[in-house]
Amino acid sequence: MDNQNEITLREELAEAKKKLDILMENMPGGVIIYEAKTGKILEVSKSLLDMFGCTEKAFREHYYNCFDLMIYKSDRPRIKDLIEQQMAFLTTIEVTFRARDLMGERKFLDFKGKLVTDKNGVQLVYAILSDVSERMLVQQELQRMNETLYMETQRYKLLMEAVDDIPFDYNALLDSVEISLKKNGGARVVIDDFRRDYRYKNVFSPDTVDQVVQVWDAALMTMKKGSFECKLHLENDKPYEWYRIHFVSFQDKTGRIVRIVGSAKNIMEEKLAEEEMNSRLKQDSMTGLYNKTTMESMVNEFILSSMPTETHALFLIDADNFKAINDNLGHMYGDEVIRFVAKTIRDIFRDSDYVGRIGGDEFMVFMKNATKEVAMNRADALNEAMRKTFEKDGISITISCSIGVALYSKDGADYTTLFTNADACLYEAKRLGKDQSVFCQDF
Ligand code: GH3
Ligand code: MG
Repeated sequence: MDNQNEITLREELAEAKKKLDILMENMPGGVIIYEAKTGKILEVSKSLLDMFGCTEKAFREHYYNCFDLMIYKSDRPRIKDLIEQQMAFLTTIEVTFRARDLMGERKFLDFKGKLVTDKNGVQLVYAILSDVSERMLVQQELQRMNETLYMETQRYKLLMEAVDDIPFDYNALLDSVEISLKKNGGARVVIDDFRRDYRYKNVFSPDTVDQVVQVWDAALMTMKKGSFECKLHLENDKPYEWYRIHFVSFQDKTGRIVRIVGSAKNIMEEKLAEEEMNSRLKQDSMTGLYNKTTMESMVNEFILSSMPTETHALFLIDADNFKAINDNLGHMYGDEVIRFVAKTIRDIFRDSDYVGRIGGDEFMVFMKNATKEVAMNRADALNEAMRKTFEKDGISITISCSIGVALYSKDGADYTTLFTNADACLYEAKRLGKDQSVFCQDF
């Protein structure tokens, strides 16, 4: 080789080396070259040192100039094995391993390497290392969430098998809900396009569907756990029944709600019992009329939404000489007479008026939207209907009733004032000789 040729070759070599250096420094990730057999580090690129935030000297010292020592101690045999296996069969080696950097921080490194034999017959590994810690953390978190979701679902399925509830599983991405009907031998019903096509309107009763949609929408916004009551049917020809629905919504890593799972429990019997209890609490057991507390709250509520220009009438009615019935015809007979009085009063007034028994032989009526004239007319009719003679074993007793009336809003704009004034009128009716009505403004 003459001198000139040697110079040209050297220049070309220097040029190639420069290009390689530029490439090594600028490619994503770092480059490391080490001996395959011993792990001895031959070259480390600046970008790899940047990734580890240290100098080459510190890097080499920390890992005793050996690639193998970069790998987590506990993972080392497994990763080395993997690399060797791939070296034996493949041209490119790919593996992800955990490393600890010089600060002791954990890094996930993606390793892409190639086995090259140098001019002396030594096998070298040329590898590109990329830091994938963030991606791995996300993956791990996703996996953890999936495991939790799986566990929750399994736990929940087991639970469901033990109780009589109907489990459901709503897939938010597919917009489909799957319901397992235990009563029909575990048959599964799938409703697709649940929200998109308003299919839920076929399931929930018109009077509860809005509330259900509100709760559902909220559970689709953020992870939620809760319960609500609603009326639903799963077959169109069946009547709606009350259910209590427990639900929990799950989100994926991006925060998007992907599922709502839960159970529906038929609470028809509970509801009927509750209704019965409620009406029993509201009612007077002997006559079936409202009791005093119920009357007070109903009248109060109605007055609250009334304008002062409206007129309503509050009647207090007390049977005259009732004690004589008890004393002469017996207490049991007296009870019958109280039921007669109750029915007579109920029949005289409109269904929409409130009628209650507020004491032994004392009753209250709240006539809605009644002028004084109409109220007087009703009072007369009541006095007339209550003039009645009862007979037993040759003894006859005649009863009648006294009535006191206060008008909203002239005689009172609140329940207490109206009651006090009507009571004063009733007292006045008794004082004037009973069997008559007295209106507040007349005295
Ligand atoms: P007045 O004409 O002044 O109204 O006198 P009254 O005899 O009707 O007696 P008053 O209204 O003062 O008292 C009502 C009586 O009704 C008292 C009690 O003996 C009787 N009483 C109260 N509750 C019941 C009941 O549930 N059953 C029966 N049989 N009697 C009752
Ligand atoms: Mg009385």
